[in-house]
Amino acid sequence: MGMIEPPLSDRIAERVREVLARMGGAARKSGRSPDSIKLVAATKSVPVDRIEMGLDAGLTILGENRVQEALSKIWALQHRNISWHFIGQLQRRKVRSIIGRFDLIHSVDGVELAREIDRRAGEAGRQQEVLLEVNIGNEPTKAGFRADDLIPALPALAALSHLRIKGLMAVPPPTAEAEQARPYFAQLRTLAERIAVLKYPSIAMQDLSMGMSHDYEVAIEEGATFVRIGTAIFGARHV
Ligand SMILES: *Cc1c(COP(=O)(O)O)cnc(C)c1O
Repeated sequence: MGMIEPPLSDRIAERVREVLARMGGAARKSGRSPDSIKLVAATKSVPVDRIEMGLDAGLTILGENRVQEALSKIWALQHRNISWHFIGQLQRRKVRSIIGRFDLIHSVDGVELAREIDRRAGEAGRQQEVLLEVNIGNEPTKAGFRADDLIPALPALAALSHLRIKGLMAVPPPTAEAEQARPYFAQLRTLAERIAVLKYPSIAMQDLSMGMSHDYEVAIEEGATFVRIGTAIFGARHV
C-alpha cells in the first residue's frame, strides 16, 4: 500500500513557500532586502491547471521559453493577473508575435535580435524592456553575447530607441554543486558594474537575472534581482 500523498495543489503551495523563504534567507544573509529579489516561475511544459495552483500560492511572474506555448497560456490565463516574461531562445521571425505580450524579455542574445525587437516595438508604438543574455561560460553551443563582445556592442544597442535595456541575464554551465556556479554569477555582476560606469543613457544595469532551482541562493548572494525557478516549484519536467 502506498502512502497517501497530499494533493498536488498543497505540494505546489508548500514548494512556493519554501522557495520564497529560502530566497528571503539568502537575501538577509547577504545584507539585501528580500523585496529586491523577484521570483520568476519557469513554466515551460507545465500545464495550465498546475500553473494556476502556483498562482493561487502567490506566484505573480511567469517565465516562458517557447513562443507558441507561451501565447496559448497567455490566452488561457488572461483572467489572472500575471506578469509574463520571456526567458527562452527567441527566433527573429517570431518577434513580431510577442511584442506587447511580455513585460520583460530576458534572452536578447545578439545585436540582430535586439534590432528586430526594436523595429517591431517601434511599429507597434511601444517600448520593450529587455535583458541582455551573456554566455558567461563561453560555451560553444550556448546562446548569448560573449562577455568580451558585449562592451563593443553597446553603442549599437544604445541607439535602439524602442528597447529599454534593464540589465543582464545568464545561464551558467551546469555544475554538480551550487557553490561551483558562484564564480559565474560574480562575473555577470562584475560585467554589469563595468557597463554601468559607462553611463549610456538608455542602458540601465538595475537587474541581474541569474539562478535556477539548484543554485538560486548562491545567485542571490552574488546579486541576482530575478531568479528563474521551475523544478523546485513544479517538480521534474517530463517533456
Ligand atoms: C527551465 C529554465 C529555468 C528553470 O530551470 P529549473 O532548473 O527547472 O529551475 C530557468 N531559466 C531558463 C532560461 C530556463 O529555460
